[in-house]
Amino acid sequence: MIDFEPNETQRLVQQTARSFAQQHVLPEAAAIDREERFPFAQLKGLADLGLMAVNVSPELGGAGAGAVAYALAMMEVAKACASTAVTMAVTNMVGEVIAKFGTPAQAELYCPQLADGSFPAGAFALSEPEAGSDPGAMRTAARKVEGGWVIDGVKQWITSGAQAGVFVVWARTGGPGTGGISCFLVPGGAKGLSVGKHEDKMGLRGSNTSSLTFDGVAVPDDALLGDLGGGFKIAMMALDGGRIGISAQSIGIATAALEEAIAYAKDRKQFGKPIGDFQALQFMIADSRAELDASRLLCLRAATMKERGVPFSKEASMSKVYSTEAANRICNRAVQIHGGYGYIREFAAERHLRDVRVTTIYEGTSQVQRIVIARMALK
Ligand SMILES: Cc1cc2nc3c(=O)[nH]c(=O)nc-3n(C[C@H](O)[C@H](O)[C@H](O)COP(=O)(O)OP(=O)(O)OC[C@H]3O[C@@H](n4cnc5c(N)ncnc54)[C@H](O)[C@@H]3O)c2cc1C
Repeated sequence: MIDFEPNETQRLVQQTARSFAQQHVLPEAAAIDREERFPFAQLKGLADLGLMAVNVSPELGGAGAGAVAYALAMMEVAKACASTAVTMAVTNMVGEVIAKFGTPAQAELYCPQLADGSFPAGAFALSEPEAGSDPGAMRTAARKVEGGWVIDGVKQWITSGAQAGVFVVWARTGGPGTGGISCFLVPGGAKGLSVGKHEDKMGLRGSNTSSLTFDGVAVPDDALLGDLGGGFKIAMMALDGGRIGISAQSIGIATAALEEAIAYAKDRKQFGKPIGDFQALQFMIADSRAELDASRLLCLRAATMKERGVPFSKEASMSKVYSTEAANRICNRAVQIHGGYGYIREFAAERHLRDVRVTTIYEGTSQVQRIVIARMALK
């Protein structure tokens, strides 16, 4: 059984996120998008409220509020600005991974700085130019030397690559396949680590997406995160949680799009009456409303299961594939409801559609989510 009524902590986190997002993030969202401006000030504000490490324990500087509170906060921030939200999502994921798999020394070194905004962001460096849906094919390698490791290779599509204070980096330490992959913590600005050009994206234009080149990056033995050869498992576990975050992000974006479409449908008149009086538009709004609620329930179920410590991979994938695809439909309908005004920058509808598009692609495409769900269903 799942109780969908937020508890006191969850409600407080949700309200804190809502109030900050509406007052300090939303007013800047159009400019963040237009100017491709990394939202430093907004992220610092979120950090000051504990929202950059919602599910990290207070001993490590986090809010210790749990996975449900995190999902609720993500929905609020994404509703205001999807670029700020994805940066928050990856940073929360990095903090959680280090807290969960790191040694006490690793966690104490990095988690507080991610949580309090000393680092503008954290980064998760898994994908490569030739290894996206199939990260087991990665080529980045870590070579053992005395006292540590030397990393060589290229990572692609790294969110906050240019701003991160710490990178969680996957590299091959053994033979081919997923068993030969380990995970390392690399500080921002490490010698031999260079950040490639910022990608010119369709949406999420305030979020930085860069390639990374590791050219003989030397890290000490204690930079290894988790077990030698255990990196792939860490990546998959982190992505299970991350998918709840992206599901929540898509719900936030779609909530904004739907609310704005409803307001527009009440205001805009054609044929002498509000366009919301036409059944064709009412049906679009009805479908969007139902799909958004279904998305929310799937997302909160997955987050609740994570919080309870029960297996939640399948539920996280179900939540991600359903809500991101629904959010794409909802944002597309919102543009349609706005007519020509949906196609110009004066209204946010077009930004929502550009921002939401990637949610069915990153942290595992819709096709990959279906593979996960089907594999478990057929087991
Ligand atoms: C804006 C943005 C931010 C990102 N941030 C990060 C980040 O911070 N860290 C990080 O590590 N990565 C990040 N990524 C990478 C992202 O996770 C990958 O783009 C994604 O996993 C897909 O990999 P790919 O782009 O190589 O596509 P491919 O894997 O080449 O897929 C291409 C198409 O083939 C389909 N496909 C592939 N394999 C199968 C299969 N077995 N069955 C059916 N269909 C299949 C896919 O679903 C897709 O439709 C980001 C990407 C973007 C666009």
